[in-house]
Amino acid sequence: MARYRFKVRSSSSFDTYQLEAYQTAAGIRFSCTCQAAGNDQHCKHRLALIAGDVTQLESRNVDDLKALSALVTGTALAASIAALAQLEDEATKIKARINGEKKNIARLMMG
Ligand SMILES: [Zn+2]
Repeated sequence: MARYRFKVRSSSSFDTYQLEAYQTAAGIRFSCTCQAAGNDQHCKHRLALIAGDVTQLESRNVDDLKALSALVTGTALAASIAALAQLEDEATKIKARINGEKKNIARLMMG
């Protein structure tokens, strides 16, 4: 079974992280050596690669990203990533509405 390995640069330090992805019976095992992933949290490095973002990619295997994308397409992981993106978009809109109402309240309190 295919196994994909990537190396990415940290966006905030000189660190680099190793990422590895392969299909399992239950889904896709996609690991990263960053601290967030080490704490069993989702990390931006894996999401970026799944999204095809090569900005921080240091390894020269861009073609493997296409294979990774194909591996993820149509899976529960892909559905969950899409749901997260939608929720984050909604959260951004709600935050803007909250700020708008706060400004409105401040204006209305001016009498
Ligand atoms: Zn990571």
